[in-house]
Amino acid sequence: MSGKLYLVPTPIGNLGDISRRMADTMAGADFLAAEDTRVTVKLLNHLGLKKPMVSYHRHNCSTAGPAIVDRLLAGESCALVTDAGTPAISDPGEDLVALCAQHDIPVEAVPGPCALICALSVSGLPTARFTFEGFLPQNKKNRRSHLDSLKGEQRTMVFYEAPHKLEDTLEDFVAVFGAERRIALCRELTKLHEQILRMTLDEAVAYFDETPPRGEFVLTVEGAPAAADTPETEDACLTAAADEVRRRVAAGETQKDAVKAVSAAAGVKKNALYRLVLEQDGADG
Ligand code: SAM
Repeated sequence: MSGKLYLVPTPIGNLGDISRRMADTMAGADFLAAEDTRVTVKLLNHLGLKKPMVSYHRHNCSTAGPAIVDRLLAGESCALVTDAGTPAISDPGEDLVALCAQHDIPVEAVPGPCALICALSVSGLPTARFTFEGFLPQNKKNRRSHLDSLKGEQRTMVFYEAPHKLEDTLEDFVAVFGAERRIALCRELTKLHEQILRMTLDEAVAYFDETPPRGEFVLTVEGAPAAADTPETEDACLTAAADEVRRRVAAGETQKDAVKAVSAAAGVKKNALYRLVLEQDGADG
């Protein structure tokens, strides 16, 4: 019978966030797979643990992954840890979990610190629906075209970003989403110098012109307003729908049938469309 892969989150800056279950899971695993064994050894020392470790990171995951899977298939259990946060979120843990799924190896996630969730929850922006965008592409052209694809995104968007790229990214945000769009910039979450900045995109650009960005950031950007939410767009839709009703009536359809068909096709309220058609007919007559 195969062993189990445990996904064990680690603090994103505050050792007080280690839970009993995280510690017990690491203690109970046959071995740990760590992103950087030097970082993990400090955590183990803090917990008074000594464990056999293998390294598993971006540059060796194609060979280290299958080697870990072989050990799991042979019945060993492994706790996967990264330098900070929840494994498999914007790191190669994702590939190891997929590999385990392919081999029917059980995977158990221990819940815990995650920069994305921490930032979203404190952002002050809508959280009911959101999209996690992780890191943007490195290449400027690809980054911009990815952002262009998010232009109409109505859900709150969460990005990870490195400090040296922050200013360029904010400028791209302004170009794509507009200067007035709200953003929450969460810096150094759970650390001594934690900072939550809630502002518009143009204010963020101005702020970081003055204060060079340092530390780790999660950017949470407000989604686009729903098109139908703006009164101007609703009015325009209704007017276009009333024109279509008039065309159909001129072509021989009854007003009632035309209103019913057009309101369904255009996604406008039947009563509102009927009222507008009657008003316009009255004005014309
Ligand atoms: N798996 C991790 C998680 O659960 O959050 C994320 C790993 S990703 C390689 C690292 C990125 O997470 C950083 O570049 C930064 O955007 C974000 N991050 C991690 N710790 C953070 C912190 N304390 N404050 C703000 N952002 C943080």
